[in-house]
Amino acid sequence: MTNPIAVLGCGPAGMAAALALHTVGHDVRVYERYPEARAAGNILNLWPPPIRALEEMGVNVVDLGSPCHGSFVNAYTGHVRADVHLPAEVVARYQGGFIGMLRPVLYERMLAAMPDGVIKVNHTVTGIHDHGDGVELTFADGSKVETPLLIGADGIDSTVRAHLWGDAPKREHRLQIIGGHTDQLPASATMNEAVISHTKWVQGSYSSIRDHGKDGYQWWVLQAWDPEKPGPADLKAHALETARDFGAPLTDLIAATTPQNTQRWVIRDRKPLTQWSKGRITLAGDAAHATSPYAAYGAGMSIGDGYALAKLLKHVDLSSTTDVAAALAVYDEKRIPHTTAQVQQAYVLGQAFHHIPRLLRPFRDFMLDRTGMLQKQVGDRSPQEIVDQLQEMGEETLANA
Ligand SMILES: Cc1cc2nc3c(=O)[nH]c(=O)nc-3n(C[C@H](O)[C@H](O)[C@H](O)COP(=O)(O)OP(=O)(O)OC[C@H]3O[C@@H](n4cnc5c(N)ncnc54)[C@H](O)[C@@H]3O)c2cc1C
Repeated sequence: MTNPIAVLGCGPAGMAAALALHTVGHDVRVYERYPEARAAGNILNLWPPPIRALEEMGVNVVDLGSPCHGSFVNAYTGHVRADVHLPAEVVARYQGGFIGMLRPVLYERMLAAMPDGVIKVNHTVTGIHDHGDGVELTFADGSKVETPLLIGADGIDSTVRAHLWGDAPKREHRLQIIGGHTDQLPASATMNEAVISHTKWVQGSYSSIRDHGKDGYQWWVLQAWDPEKPGPADLKAHALETARDFGAPLTDLIAATTPQNTQRWVIRDRKPLTQWSKGRITLAGDAAHATSPYAAYGAGMSIGDGYALAKLLKHVDLSSTTDVAAALAVYDEKRIPHTTAQVQQAYVLGQAFHHIPRLLRPFRDFMLDRTGMLQKQVGDRSPQEIVDQLQEMGEETLANA
């Protein structure tokens, strides 16, 4: 009998990999450095491919969040620059399409589906040695385990990525995002909408959410920010000031949010890798493709990685180094082009909306308002990619593959 597959990190990527691998019959352990799997943050939307993947992993996705229709809007005029239309059958099949939720509920649902004994908390990996027939992991307390396959799902500062491909600086987007959520329902806001709105230099957005059966809204403001500069002392006051040009409903939602439910992130990613896997080790989630929130898809892609890995490894004899490496090569081939496109598009959108030279801005806004550019790039291409991803997942479920 082979040792369990080891997953490093208990975020969305690690939990998805563990659930999916368990579903296809592999024994798996997740090693998490903290005393518990905890959601770092609140605001989140999920597209249909991760919803389908979660469902097939045994996660209860019923009423996980609020179904939303997405649009990109000129904040000054209300002109809709891009209307994100998922096909009606996709919306009907996957809980309503683009689902607005709070991150902790995703963790709760994934943890509820996790078999006992899979997650090992308080385990920080400090050493990795692929000796050909297997991988030896060393933990901070000096203990060791042997595994036939290591999946690095340990986030943007991944130890596994650095071990495989060396350390490199993160890519600074020179942006910050402040976001929050409220269960207040101001009359100015519209349920079941995700409205991504831009002034000349700021993105101010909101989406409806459902959390434990209760309706609410999440919102965020995104703007240029020097990463060396400290963040604003009063996040809520800063968000309100930044959202002034947007008016209601954004300002109403921010005003209704408690400071405890308001958070800030500096946006960074990593330049995409051209290879993730080597020998008996691979990557998943932000460890493989750290992505700006402009994609609203980092967690979604992380869940998709685990799903793809499990399908490819279902019938693989883990004692065969050749077979494991061959499955991982197909995994790279399937996942790298899709995730790289998302990472790069999110980076470019962030630069175009917030860092374009001042002289070019009127031209940018003319293109966004008067040509179908954004509709083509975001309104049409993004839903098409969702449909393509669903097709690539195939007809067979994880359990039947
Ligand atoms: C403001 C914001 C908004 C976002 N909005 C969306 C959205 O709407 N939709 C979407 O799909 N995505 C969104 N994302 C992206 C999403 O949050 C990430 O892509 C996702 O959390 C990545 O999951 P992960 O499991 O790969 O990494 P993480 O969530 O970072 O988890 C990594 C885990 O590994 C553990 N770990 C790290 N090192 C070690 C070690 N050495 N040993 C053991 N454990 C270790 C960590 O403690 C952690 O638990 C957003 C991100 C931000 C910042």
